[in-house]
Amino acid sequence: MNPICNFNAGPSMLPVPVLQQVQSELLDYQGRGMSIMEMSHRSKEFEAINASAETTFKRLLGIGDGYRVLFVQGGASTQFAMLPMNFLPPGGSADYLLTGAWAEKAIEEAKLFGTVNIAASTQADQFRRVPQQDQLQLNPQAAYVHFTSNETIQGIQFHQIPNIGDRPLVCDMSSDILSRPIPAERFAMIYAGAQKNLGPSGVTAVLLREDWLARANKNVPTMLRYSTHVKNNSLYNTPPTFGVYVLNLVLNWIEQQGGLSGMAERNARKAKLIYEAIDQSRGFYFGHASIESRSLMNVTFRLPNESLEKQFVQQATAAGLIGLAGHRSVGGIRASIYNAVEESACRTLANFMSDFAKRYG
Ligand SMILES: *Cc1c(COP(=O)(O)O)cnc(C)c1O
Repeated sequence: MNPICNFNAGPSMLPVPVLQQVQSELLDYQGRGMSIMEMSHRSKEFEAINASAETTFKRLLGIGDGYRVLFVQGGASTQFAMLPMNFLPPGGSADYLLTGAWAEKAIEEAKLFGTVNIAASTQADQFRRVPQQDQLQLNPQAAYVHFTSNETIQGIQFHQIPNIGDRPLVCDMSSDILSRPIPAERFAMIYAGAQKNLGPSGVTAVLLREDWLARANKNVPTMLRYSTHVKNNSLYNTPPTFGVYVLNLVLNWIEQQGGLSGMAERNARKAKLIYEAIDQSRGFYFGHASIESRSLMNVTFRLPNESLEKQFVQQATAAGLIGLAGHRSVGGIRASIYNAVEESACRTLANFMSDFAKRYG
């Protein structure tokens, strides 16, 4: 039993059985007498891991031919630039939904390469919610439409995928990828830094519809061209082999938990425990997100004042509840409850919250 409840926002908790397998294979990978970290990325051992990670990823999302999954470096932040470099044609325009801190960063990068049309913004509501379908002002000529399915810092999440007709739909899914079933075939591209729901930092997963590649710009540096990574099965240069190895184990673990529907049920139960603690506190805890946009991955809330928030974090830490301080840009409290976080940890936090509210409310 792990006495610590890890609510870190990213890098974040990994499934304990995955860490145990990593530990057992660390010095001797499958009888080869060395670690997977010490082998060539061209070895048959690593090639098998790399291929399995792509296949399992696609199987979890229920998609087949016509899509590729790439494992690249540079984090989701590099994707903010790589996307417009490849898919915003000279003189072109792309639609972006402005829903929080991460969408904003994606927008700033896209502006370096072309025109950005903010097709919807919830900034005037302090990013407490995602836009509704009828609030989208889409440009019929948009090269693509980009949105952020889960705003990790504000704690808001799309519970319905925006309907954008036949424009290419692109999503930054860094903080809720593989946490629930999604209609993957509606996307031209999905990307995610691994360190929240998929594995260790250093790997970025990119799901790409292959036919979209035909429209990609040609004058892009080799490493920043999606087609380079597609043609070379993510092995154009040395990939982050250890990260891909751990990611593959996490994908297997997700399958063993009942796949994405299993994850969704478990994540809904977890989030409910903490949101109930907020709702039953009679105003002592104040959730940042509007109820209909509440994130099942990052639960964000405030206490009556900052000094109580400080005490909350201090006492929680002393009780083994780790990583609860909100992002430095917004303050408050944030519980990140990604796939690997156990329901029991969420129950421990909910009980701590009720007890703290009784003592200080
Ligand atoms: C964490 C995060 C990022 C940044 O990811 P890096 O891998 O650190 O570049 C981008 N978007 C979202 C939604 C995130 O949660």
